[in-house]
Amino acid sequence: MDSKEIEQLVRNEIVKSILETQEFLIVGNWKMNKLKPEVIEFLDDIANYDCGTKNTLVVIPPNPYLYLFEDKLRFSQVLYGVQNLFSKEKGAFTGEISCGMARDFGAQYAILGHSERRTIFLECDVITSKKVRSCVQNQIKPIVCIGEDLNQRKSNDYKPFLIRQIKEGLSRISGNELLNVIIAYEPIWAIGTGETATPDQVEETHMFIRKFLEDEYGSEIGKSIPLLYGGSVNTSNVKELALAQSVSGFLIGGASLNAQTFMEINEILNGK
Ligand code: PEP
Repeated sequence: MDSKEIEQLVRNEIVKSILETQEFLIVGNWKMNKLKPEVIEFLDDIANYDCGTKNTLVVIPPNPYLYLFEDKLRFSQVLYGVQNLFSKEKGAFTGEISCGMARDFGAQYAILGHSERRTIFLECDVITSKKVRSCVQNQIKPIVCIGEDLNQRKSNDYKPFLIRQIKEGLSRISGNELLNVIIAYEPIWAIGTGETATPDQVEETHMFIRKFLEDEYGSEIGKSIPLLYGGSVNTSNVKELALAQSVSGFLIGGASLNAQTFMEINEILNGK
């Protein structure tokens, strides 16, 4: 065996041991996809899946299927949530659902401020921050999405933008409430495009966000907030991305639609 092969062997062992020990939060965002038969097929495939002891798997379907999730995942390790909700408890808010309604069906997580909500439905940081507060007050874990577009990335002025999204998104909660929040860094140019950020880009940005969180909210809270990466994550790139520092897990769109692929991503993140 030559020195290159030995080096590779050592690297493989280090990678395996990192993946075997580090906890990851793996969230699948179905967006507006699937009809009932496909939802049932997915749930039948995943309901009895043994995720292992360290990773948390969360699937986020369209709201009409929450009742199926409640039924089929009753005894499952797989958790679920909603793609959006409104900050009010009840009232004349046509088309919206509340935290209480999501919780009624067993949802434990909510994606908030996804770039598709921001760009297509014109949701701003203020709206996101009110939803974050409502989730925290109602025992739903908010997954707050942030991320720059291609122009901001190219002109290298995206960091102040990311900070603004975090600061404003979290502006209506404080202290230990911040421990309930998850942040997902999702560069818009990498969502659904097949163009993933490189592990170096992810590491650099995550380290920057982590430092900001520690400076702004104190070291204990700043270190504890899970920081997910999202943007064209799949079975081929997830291992390298997982090795980037300060990556606590992934928000996955397209690759979460197939149960086998979603479970395979967890297997990879278990060091298999
Ligand atoms: C997403 O939906 O947030 C996402 C990252 O999608 P995709 O994995 O398809 O890029």
